[in-house]
Amino acid sequence: MIKYKAKKFKKGVTMISDGIVNEFLIEGKDKALLLDTGLDFYDIRAFVETLTDKELLVVNSHFHPDHANGNYHFDKVYVGEADLPTFTTKDVYFKLVEDITSAVYAKYPKSHMLDSIVDAVIMTKPGNTEYVPLKDGDVLDLGKKKLIVKNFPGHTPGEITLLDPKEKFIYAGDSSDIDIWMFTNPDCSLHEYAETGRQYYKEVKKLGYKKYRGAHMPVTHKISFMRDYADWLDKLTPEKALLKFNVPGGRSPLCIAVALSPRHIAYTSVYWAHQCEW
Ligand SMILES: [Zn+2]
Ligand SMILES: [Zn+2]
Repeated sequence: MIKYKAKKFKKGVTMISDGIVNEFLIEGKDKALLLDTGLDFYDIRAFVETLTDKELLVVNSHFHPDHANGNYHFDKVYVGEADLPTFTTKDVYFKLVEDITSAVYAKYPKSHMLDSIVDAVIMTKPGNTEYVPLKDGDVLDLGKKKLIVKNFPGHTPGEITLLDPKEKFIYAGDSSDIDIWMFTNPDCSLHEYAETGRQYYKEVKKLGYKKYRGAHMPVTHKISFMRDYADWLDKLTPEKALLKFNVPGGRSPLCIAVALSPRHIAYTSVYWAHQCEW
């Protein structure tokens, strides 16, 4: 059993880590907000209750298992409106899992032995949790601490970021991390993502935001990373991939690209070949 570790990230903000993904506990005077609930290696609710006794708002940056598997411990979870889960193949994520697992099982029947691992790690449990949609511009008031919801779709259709206007800091989930898995949203083209990223960067720069932290990032980035990453992603083609292979159930070959950057060390992404088409 992997236990969560907590460390002070900023004044009133604790970073909780399971070694794969970071969750943030952001405390105001009256309420606390938990951004993401992790892979559920451990009971996140019990852990957070050792850190605060304030009323808790639980928010998902987006609906992926490494950010949402612990949701079922809570009565209510807020999520971007385009990521509201139905836990059926109507959801982009669950459709992708269904397409791939059914094709893999048809081709390799013995892989059914992995069912329990697939269920535990990549299939978020619905539980009895009520899901409440968040809209772009919504303000979450924690008492002397306000966070503003800003959409940043691409990695998932409904990914949101949280802006802290006082600190000029952004909690960005997986929207613009060091390695964006674009393949999880096969209907989004890399060009469409790049346009969104550049527009997002322009808007937050104008508002005076300087830095942000992604959920898997080992360090805090300057917001210029968002723009530069978007520009890099925009130029990717299947030919530029370091690795390319066919995945059963995939619409086109899966590509992995890596590039060094003098300014930002490196960029990586996993995408489907068809996502390079405009
Ligand atoms: Zn994700
Ligand atoms: Zn993630």
